[in-house]
Amino acid sequence: MERIGPLFILLFAATLALVALLSVRPVPEILVVVDAGHGGHDPGAEVSGVREKDLNLTLALLVARKAQGIRGLRVVLTRSTDTYVDLVERVKMAEALGAALYLSIHANYHRDPKVCGIETWVDTNAGQESQRLAECVQRAVVSAVGGADRGVRRQTLYLRHTSLPAALVEVGFLSCPSERKKLLDPAYQERIAEGILQGIREFLGI
Ligand code: ZN
Repeated sequence: MERIGPLFILLFAATLALVALLSVRPVPEILVVVDAGHGGHDPGAEVSGVREKDLNLTLALLVARKAQGIRGLRVVLTRSTDTYVDLVERVKMAEALGAALYLSIHANYHRDPKVCGIETWVDTNAGQESQRLAECVQRAVVSAVGGADRGVRRQTLYLRHTSLPAALVEVGFLSCPSERKKLLDPAYQERIAEGILQGIREFLGI
């Protein structure tokens, strides 16, 4: 009988250790690449002292920060400072990392200040998965901020240099005074980032 006590304790401890080991086992991680459009010598659109590259970076950093709380998802940024990265290099980086998708964040410009709203772009020859990614992101961002839905659109983009699902979201028009004001509001920026992340999660099904 004296020998059963220690043996039981040993088995119990071994079971606990095994349970602990299994619970910290990393879940398979899905990696996505989020791009802050423009940067460095390329400011993108500039209206009333607001530079698109700065807004894009703020939003990309917010998306990356919010994603840290999501198990199984890892967001890698093409740039996390005010630097210029070659466009084709950005998508090649995503491919080299084995990313599940590539999403570029931009703010829009139109010479007509009455043009406002959110739109998401894919390359002219984009496949179904890029189209689906764009639709997920467009829907989620529109619903997160309640902006005008300008839909998913197509044009020739550098995104044609990747076979990954790839899209480019234009979160609002800097040329639209009311939207520009909102885009500078940190609470609104948080909602856009939430929307972008939600769109990514819907696309991935996580
Ligand atoms: Zn842009």
